[in-house]
Amino acid sequence: MYLLDNLTAVTMDAERRILRDAAIAIDGPEIVAVDESSAVKKRFPGTEIVDATGMTAIPGLIDTHAHADQSLLRGLGDGMHWIPFIDDVVEPYLAKRDPAIGVLANTLSMIEMLRSGTTCFVSPNVDPRDDYALLADAIGKLGIRAVLGRYTMPDARPDSVSKARNAAKSASRIMRDWHGSADGLVSMWFGLHVPRRAGDTDHPHFYEAVANEAAALGVGITYHFCSEIEDADYIVEHYGMRPAEWSRDNHALGDNVLLINGCQMTDPEIGILADSGTHLAHSPVANMKMATGILPLTRVLATNVNVSLGTDGALNNNSYDMFAEMKTAVLLQNAINRSASAMTAATALEMATINGAKAIGRRDQLGSIELGKQADIVLLDMRQAFTAPVHDVLSNIVFAANRSTVDTVIIAGRKVVERGVVTGVDEASVIDEAKTRADELRKLIIER
Ligand SMILES: [Zn+2]
Repeated sequence: MYLLDNLTAVTMDAERRILRDAAIAIDGPEIVAVDESSAVKKRFPGTEIVDATGMTAIPGLIDTHAHADQSLLRGLGDGMHWIPFIDDVVEPYLAKRDPAIGVLANTLSMIEMLRSGTTCFVSPNVDPRDDYALLADAIGKLGIRAVLGRYTMPDARPDSVSKARNAAKSASRIMRDWHGSADGLVSMWFGLHVPRRAGDTDHPHFYEAVANEAAALGVGITYHFCSEIEDADYIVEHYGMRPAEWSRDNHALGDNVLLINGCQMTDPEIGILADSGTHLAHSPVANMKMATGILPLTRVLATNVNVSLGTDGALNNNSYDMFAEMKTAVLLQNAINRSASAMTAATALEMATINGAKAIGRRDQLGSIELGKQADIVLLDMRQAFTAPVHDVLSNIVFAANRSTVDTVIIAGRKVVERGVVTGVDEASVIDEAKTRADELRKLIIER
């Protein structure tokens, strides 16, 4: 047990309390007190004290759309439309890489995330060919929380109820093997493939079987939804309905479903998401870089759809930096709404923390600094030229701070970054190996 003492705590609790001269008591993986420093010290006399003078504590950031296996390709997808981007970069990479490369790419991404204050991420479309034992081992060493959306698509044969059930059941057996592994850091989800363009499979029985298996396992489903002009148009032309209607008719909405992007959504579709309790991951940096479209975020938030933030990843962001995501989310909404108050710093921080926890079904455990919650805490050192003075701490976190402000990261009570240094692996040797393997991959994929 230990106390983090002499800090400012941005709790993100229901009252959004900001406590100055505060302390946080951590026992094992849990927060057992957050209050004024003197009160906490009186309650837990003789406990080890970690002096955090000058630090601002925020809940760990939750990146709800992070393709964590793409870091070795950073910079190779610039200036590309999404279809050649998938066909000429992502697919050849997946075809050419072996499972060890996949784990190396994930490790590099996870180091970047930890150094950026991210304590939990959702990786959609995790390759079923990956070595899940190696991956869980890497996650455990680094100590980060990972929601792995295992890529799930029907096979090419015609759809039938029995085949769909068997396919979903065999997927869920693998999910069950790894769900909760690495001391509970790993969660397994279905990374569903839904039709996006001509030639994509379309098996309604399969989607229903996946929805049933996810409910039985108590896990979530995530997929890219209504992202691009072309994939939204494809659904309209092929099925005669909007993407949210297609998802509703195919058992692919609900409070255990996290949709990605939704840039092309119409107002009635936003209503369908709200009625079904479906969550949405917003990735403004990647959406702008890829010219995907602009999510009408202020209208989505006004309907009470839960919206979280995600970076997308090294190919179309080109980083896993949630500070940049928070700031960009605000700037984009203010710009398109022609209002300097269309969106606030407070809303951006909510999306990156408590809304992310809701989006992954863990609002009772993650997303805020509160009694009984998991101790996932980031200490920001705001005593720097670019973050001083602090008149408004939320403003400084979202608009002035960046990931170099991250000093210490704690996940489930364990210090996984201390004074800017990742504790679980040797960062320099991972970077060295990543450079070597990335050179080989570039020659194989791009310069072939
Ligand atoms: Zn994505």
